[in-house]
Amino acid sequence: MSSLLHRLLNASLPIVVGGDGNYLIDQNGKRYLDACGGAAVSCLGHDNARVRAALKAQIDRVAFAHTSFFTNAPAEELARFLVARAPRGTGAGRVMFLGSGSEAMEAALKLARQYHLERGETARHKIIARAPSYHGNTLGALATGGHAGRRAPFQPLLLEVSHIDAAYSYRMQKDGESDAGFAYRMANLLDERIRELGPETVMAFVAEPVVGASLGTQPPPEGYFKRIREICDEHGVLFIADEVMCGMGRTGSLFALEQEGIAADITTLAKGLGAGYQPIAAVLAAEKVIAAIQDGSGLLWNGHTYMSHAVATAGALAVQNVIEDENLLEHVRQRGEQLRKALLSRLGEHPNTGDIRGRGLFWSVELVRDRASKEPFPATARLAQNIQKTALDRGLMCYPAQGCVNGTDGDHVLLAPAYTSTPGEIDRIAELTAAAVSAALDLME
Ligand code: PLP
Repeated sequence: MSSLLHRLLNASLPIVVGGDGNYLIDQNGKRYLDACGGAAVSCLGHDNARVRAALKAQIDRVAFAHTSFFTNAPAEELARFLVARAPRGTGAGRVMFLGSGSEAMEAALKLARQYHLERGETARHKIIARAPSYHGNTLGALATGGHAGRRAPFQPLLLEVSHIDAAYSYRMQKDGESDAGFAYRMANLLDERIRELGPETVMAFVAEPVVGASLGTQPPPEGYFKRIREICDEHGVLFIADEVMCGMGRTGSLFALEQEGIAADITTLAKGLGAGYQPIAAVLAAEKVIAAIQDGSGLLWNGHTYMSHAVATAGALAVQNVIEDENLLEHVRQRGEQLRKALLSRLGEHPNTGDIRGRGLFWSVELVRDRASKEPFPATARLAQNIQKTALDRGLMCYPAQGCVNGTDGDHVLLAPAYTSTPGEIDRIAELTAAAVSAALDLME
């Protein structure tokens, strides 16, 4: 019996004993093709030699030295690496390394608050985010997320966050509405909300450039984030881009926002940063945020014991060097296109496929009960959970999720294969995903 708290409900999980390229191996020697990187984490597979060597070398030098006494070489170098490559414009000035995406989101929110306080705008404390969305599990990050089901049990502990509709093309774009018109209409919801709340009270707008698990790899309609940027600038509101899931190459560019032609004021990164070899996340702050602090108190009002951890940053630096040296972003774009076509050919005409959407190596299939009306399956049908099981039985790890329609109903299967996936592995992922979906649907009949 497991003594792990998170295994209370799921006593029958296999035990992982090894990794071989893009496969994980359990205690019985069964191999699982990792088509989702766990949760879009393992972008270099499970046994990258350069990353392992960098981790070992750093442990042999020194593992941990508290940041109030020392800085360390890998953290400094990784910060320079990210600052040099972050989208320009409002740009990135400085970086902070933390342990998880949720911690990074908390730090981003606090940094936004500090920015306004340093400038004397003390009334600015309100956060606007989108629904559906997911920004993490700690109380501040959970409050920011627009996921009704996850939030409900924790009320009244959560911050009051105002949510506007996410730009969910499949369900929100009206018949005959142009992409540009849709982008403008959805972005303007932010303008309306800021005016309703009182611009002088609004601190930040938070959004994922390409939405991950809450909405199934939803790219923005073209022009959406340009308009968001204009609105934030007009009202003095900071834009926080949550690139925890979509960042670090997942969508075919290092930062997902690069493809939108704008920069955020604060950016959070996590999963693809360390590729799962170490727990690590980052917060990037633009020059204007840093300048406000330098011209004000001169102190960052945030800190954690394990920030800038030397082994975690050494591992992440090696991950990023591998991605760059091996030109893996190009690989992401090519294999991504292959995956798109393979999913369309295997599931595009399926009567329960509502939408196939994504970018780079970040794709989802949204499943519906009825294609014409787009009626979702109810959460009680447990379709997502059944797909996860039928896929695992076939030796495939995919990431089915629920709640894209109203926070409870609506299922999609999210795929986020490693950037190192071979053409054969991509075909196999599409084949096994289609087989798992059909088998799960058969179970419901
Ligand atoms: N933000 C997004 C977009 C995420 O997908 C996640 C996790 O899935 C988080 C934040 C929270 O990250 P973590 O689970 O590392 O705390």
